[in-house]
Amino acid sequence: MVLTSVPFAEDVFTWPSDNPQLIGCRCPECKAVFFPMQPSCGVCGSLEVEQLLLPTTGTIWAWTTQEFLPKAPYAGGETPETFKGFGVGVIDLEGVVRIESRLTESDPDKLKFGGKVELVIVPFRTEGDKEIVSFAFKPV
Ligand SMILES: [Zn+2]
Repeated sequence: MVLTSVPFAEDVFTWPSDNPQLIGCRCPECKAVFFPMQPSCGVCGSLEVEQLLLPTTGTIWAWTTQEFLPKAPYAGGETPETFKGFGVGVIDLEGVVRIESRLTESDPDKLKFGGKVELVIVPFRTEGDKEIVSFAFKPV
């Protein structure tokens, strides 16, 4: 069976794409940048925010590891038996914006502040013939 890859939510990253990018927005008034996209500027309240495709690389600004299964409404396919810990980071996307993301690496020895990372699209769960995909950042 061939699985069709479907993003877990609309308008979070460009997909399908050979070079996917996260979709954020920028306020033309005060230049603030947000991710995910939002209908108005969280700084000045302007309703004129414009879509902005974000850099696919950045650095780890802060990180931790999640060692237990997230509570509802988390909708990953894991059970307490299959769950594996994962890293979570605040990623500075080339100075454009800082965003929270899952990391592909959870080994504290391989994660460091200021470490370089790149955007990857990763499987999240399957639903029939659909593979629901999400994004994460991978140390490079
Ligand atoms: Zn603004």
